[in-house]
Amino acid sequence: MSSTLSEITDELAALVAAAEEEVGAVVDAKALEAWRVKYLGKKARLSVLSREMGSLGADERPAAGKVLNEAKARVQALFDAKKAELEKQPGAAAEAPAIDTTLPGRRPRAGDVHPITKVYYEVRDFYLRLGFGIWYGPEAEDDFHNFGALNFPEDHPSRDEQDTFYLNDGLLLRTHTSPVQIRAMKAVEPPLRIIVPGRCFRSDAPDATHYPVFHQVEGLYVDKAVSLAELKGTLEAMGVYLFGPGTEMRFRPHFFPFTEPSAEVDFTCPRCGGEVCGVCHDGWVEVLGAGMVDPAVFENVGYDPEAWVGYAFGVGIERLAMIKYGITDIRYFYENDLRFIKQFK
Ligand SMILES: [Zn+2]
Repeated sequence: MSSTLSEITDELAALVAAAEEEVGAVVDAKALEAWRVKYLGKKARLSVLSREMGSLGADERPAAGKVLNEAKARVQALFDAKKAELEKQPGAAAEAPAIDTTLPGRRPRAGDVHPITKVYYEVRDFYLRLGFGIWYGPEAEDDFHNFGALNFPEDHPSRDEQDTFYLNDGLLLRTHTSPVQIRAMKAVEPPLRIIVPGRCFRSDAPDATHYPVFHQVEGLYVDKAVSLAELKGTLEAMGVYLFGPGTEMRFRPHFFPFTEPSAEVDFTCPRCGGEVCGVCHDGWVEVLGAGMVDPAVFENVGYDPEAWVGYAFGVGIERLAMIKYGITDIRYFYENDLRFIKQFK
């Protein structure tokens, strides 16, 4: 270093004065950072002088070091004061760098499909493979589509207000997905092969097996030569698809207004394989209702009952999911408890 002590003293005084003047013009964090680099950074004059201190004569070195340290302390104090001033300003936090880019990233939590949706997808995929199409219909229905056209007599108990939610203007919340059968048949000419997924509503008090809202998948197949044997074969294949190989099926005669003959359909319990367990009680689980479309329903939609035959079935999705996963209370599906839902990944 060729400078003398007096030259260094003069230079530092000028430097501090310039730093003082410039810091007055600093109004945000970005400008302060530029100022810091200029006066306190590695390439700043103060830093360069520090490194060169060693080349001074031994007699001058202590005095020069003192002057340099004083200058550094002044400039650092200017920086600290300005920083504190800026941080007090409203909105300063937003401008300050809030992200520490050196931290490891946080993986976003992935959602998953609700067990009801999962089981519906399985049923849907089975029927799509068989060539069924999908129809949707409104949840607010009228009496004709929900009951009348489906051959429900005027005094049928399910029309009672204790079973059905009635809305204004003669509408009601559909109690099953079957009204969409009526809508589909009125809209298109046969042959017809569809499933109808959707929410249904009944004014049941919630308990372990009843809930006022539930999901069904309806099936309808109309053609010239549809047989009961074909219905049985299709449902049996569905049972194996959903519950695994070796699943057996049985038909129990039943009554539905819109099918004749009608049956309730059971499968061997997939939980215990036909032994007895808490899900099945006797080795069998009741899964759905089915039957051959009643000719009166064809008449109601304008299909010729002499020319066309069909089968229909309705599967309860909650019921299926409860059997499949061994769930003992239907209310778990609707409580939005993540601890429950996460078990079905
Ligand atoms: Zn069982």
